[in-house]
Amino acid sequence: MSEPVNEPSSIKDRYSAALMNTFGPPRLALVRGEGAHVWDEDGREYVDLFGGIAVNALGHAHPALVDAVAGQLRTLGHVSNFFTSGPQVELAERLLALLGASGRVFFTNSGTEANEAAFKMTRRTGRTRLVAMEGAFHGRTMGALALTAKAAYREPFEPLPGEVTFVPYGDAAALAAAVDDTTAAVVVEPIQGEAGVVVPPEGFLAAAREITSAHGALLWVDEVQTGVGRTGDWFAHARDGVVPDIVTLAKGLGGGVPIGAAIAVGAASTLLQPGNHGTTFGGNPVACAAALAVLDTIEKESLLAAAVERGDQLTRILLAEQEVTDVEGRGLLLGAQLADERAAQVVARAQERGFLLNNTGPARLRFAPPLTVPADDLAAFGAVWAEILEADA
Ligand SMILES: *Cc1c(COP(=O)(O)O)cnc(C)c1O
Repeated sequence: MSEPVNEPSSIKDRYSAALMNTFGPPRLALVRGEGAHVWDEDGREYVDLFGGIAVNALGHAHPALVDAVAGQLRTLGHVSNFFTSGPQVELAERLLALLGASGRVFFTNSGTEANEAAFKMTRRTGRTRLVAMEGAFHGRTMGALALTAKAAYREPFEPLPGEVTFVPYGDAAALAAAVDDTTAAVVVEPIQGEAGVVVPPEGFLAAAREITSAHGALLWVDEVQTGVGRTGDWFAHARDGVVPDIVTLAKGLGGGVPIGAAIAVGAASTLLQPGNHGTTFGGNPVACAAALAVLDTIEKESLLAAAVERGDQLTRILLAEQEVTDVEGRGLLLGAQLADERAAQVVARAQERGFLLNNTGPARLRFAPPLTVPADDLAAFGAVWAEILEADA
C-alpha cells in the first residue's frame, strides 16, 4: 500500500495556521534579497519600491551591514542594560552630532517603544495633557496608540491613556488654540507617513515650536519614518530650522535590524531619572553596530543626495501619467494620489509585473524604496507604469 503523497505546502499557506491573523494575509513569502531586489518562494524576482516600510535604507544584504552585524555578534552580542558597550555609546554620540544639539539618547527596539519612552518623558514634566495630530500614526502599543488618530486602531483597545487632544495636521491656529500652560507636549510627524505621505504647510513646525515654547510645553517630533536620510536630510525637521525637545527614530536606523531611539535635547534629557525606564534589549551592541554601519554607509555612498535625485526621478515617472493627480513628499518618501480608487488594483498589477508597491488608502500609493535604489530600477518601473495604471477591462 502506497503512502498518500503529501504536497509540500508553501510558506504562505502555512502562515495562517501558525501566525495570528493581526494584519491580514501576507502578500508573498520572501526568501532572499539583494540590493533593491527580493525573491519569493517560487523564485520570482521583484524590485522593492516599498523598502519594508521605509526600513531597508541600504536595500537588502548590503555588505557593510552584514559585516557589521556578523562582526559584532562574533565579538559581543548582548549585555543587557546592566552594562554598556562601545557601539551603544558611539551611536548615541553620532546621533547627537547629526542632530547638532546637546542631549541624551534612550535606545529601544522599535518605533512604538521609542515613542513610549518619549511619552514617559512628557509625564515627568509634571503635566499630563498632550496634543497630537489628526491623521497621525505613532505606533500600536497602548501609549503610542493613545496618540494615534485612526479610530479603527484605537477603539478596540480603549480606554487608552487619556488627556490627548487631536488637532488638524498643519493647522497652526488650531494648534495654538489647543495648547496652554497645562500642556506637557505636542507630538508631530514632520511628514505624515502612514497617512499616505502628507506634507504640512511651510512653517507649521516652526509655528509648533513657537507655540510650545510660549507655554513651556515640549515639542516632540516623531521621525520614526522620516528620519535617517529618508527625505534627503538626516532629519526631516532640519528643513524647518527648529530644535525639538524630543526626536524619536526607528525604521531606517538599523537598515532592517530592529532598533529605535528617543533623543532628548537640553533640559528634556534629564526628565527620565534612574528607575524611571528600562529595556533588556534596547541599545543591544549588534543593533547599535548595525545602525552605525547604516550611518557610515549613508555618508560614504552619498545617499542623502541620492535620495533627492532618485526621488526627483521617481516623481517625474509617477507624474508622467494623467491618472496620477499629485505627488507629495521629499526624497524617497513619496505619496502619489490617483484620480480613481484604484490603488489596491495598481499594487496587485505591479506585483504581477515584478514591482512591490504599497497603498495607504483606496486612491493613495506610498513609495519608500531603498536609498540605494539604482536609477535603472526606477527606469524599468517607469517603462511599465502606464500599463500598471490601466483600468481592468
Ligand atoms: C512606523 C511608525 C511608528 C511605529 O514604529 P514600529 O517600529 O512599527 O513600532 C511610529 N511612528 C511613525 C511616524 C511611524 O511611521
